[in-house]
Amino acid sequence: MANTIDIIVPFYNEAGSIQEFCSLLDDLVAALDSRGLKAQAILVDDGSTDGGLKLVTQHCKVPAITIELSRNFGKEVAVLAGIDASDADYTLIMDSDLQHSCDMALSLIDTLTADEALDVVFAKRSDRKQSGRFAQYGADAFYRLINWGQRYSFPENAGDFRVMRKPVTDALKTLRDQRRFNKGLYAFAGFRQKALEYIPAERHSGEGKWSKFQMIGYSLSAFTSFSVVPLRLLSLTGLLCAFVAIAYGVKIVFEVLVSGVSVPGFPSLLVAVVFLGGLNLALLGLIGEYVWVGVLEGKNRPVYLARRVNRLNVVNPEAESPMPST
Ligand code: UDP
Ligand code: MG
Repeated sequence: MANTIDIIVPFYNEAGSIQEFCSLLDDLVAALDSRGLKAQAILVDDGSTDGGLKLVTQHCKVPAITIELSRNFGKEVAVLAGIDASDADYTLIMDSDLQHSCDMALSLIDTLTADEALDVVFAKRSDRKQSGRFAQYGADAFYRLINWGQRYSFPENAGDFRVMRKPVTDALKTLRDQRRFNKGLYAFAGFRQKALEYIPAERHSGEGKWSKFQMIGYSLSAFTSFSVVPLRLLSLTGLLCAFVAIAYGVKIVFEVLVSGVSVPGFPSLLVAVVFLGGLNLALLGLIGEYVWVGVLEGKNRPVYLARRVNRLNVVNPEAESPMPST
């Protein structure tokens, strides 16, 4: 029997590129067919409000499952909805905004199928160096800090664009974090991974969905989900302040008792109080972030809710998903 592959595609308000994306899917599925791989698309509508799902239904010519989420949950969660629906030998994840090309998807798949020793092949952006020195320093600091003391490493500039074997997909189904940071989950899962460098195309239409504030929030959730380093750094700073204060106190006592100097204390006192107050508040805020993640996870809500699941272009839908016999 032919090996199967599911192509997971999350989309959110991408009506401008859906039609072209559907023709990319035609080419991709035909190319996979010629490689002996039976492909199916899993198209996850992440709460689009621009009628994108209707366009998908009109233009998608390949066998597909459409999953309509009940609202916008964010890309990370939409990808999980696709993963949950996948039962194929291979799973490919790609974007619907045409930044991920058919050729690159095929390169990922060919690399994986050619090497039994590999479980995952992912695409790694090689164009980040052009994104300005400040952004580069920020990214470097982020990865250095988040990889500090970990037993697994978060590869730089890798995203969801990847293909994996079934055991990896099954493993990812078991990771039910509410606050999802997919890069971290892929790294946590482990397996034998290989990176292929690529430069994503420009967006076909519309705008990226990430604002600067969202990026900062996303980076913070990476830490609260995967790293205790920020808490340790702040505790360490607190300890350091305490040592400095003790040393300074000893110096004052010494000066008063031995040299008889009266120490004018008000300005230094104010600086110390404000500094320590600020540090305390920052630490409290950070602990609050970690507690909030704990509360969210503790509620154990479903990670997403689906409004409707449909099958498109399947010759015999009953045969694919049999009704329970009465
Ligand atoms: N996306 C989604 N839900 C969201 C935001 C984005 O499903 O809340 C989809 C989007 O339609 C696209 C992919 O995720 O197919 C990547 O989004 P985007 O292009 O905004 O991110 P970037 O390419 O900048 O990583
Ligand atoms: Mg994009």
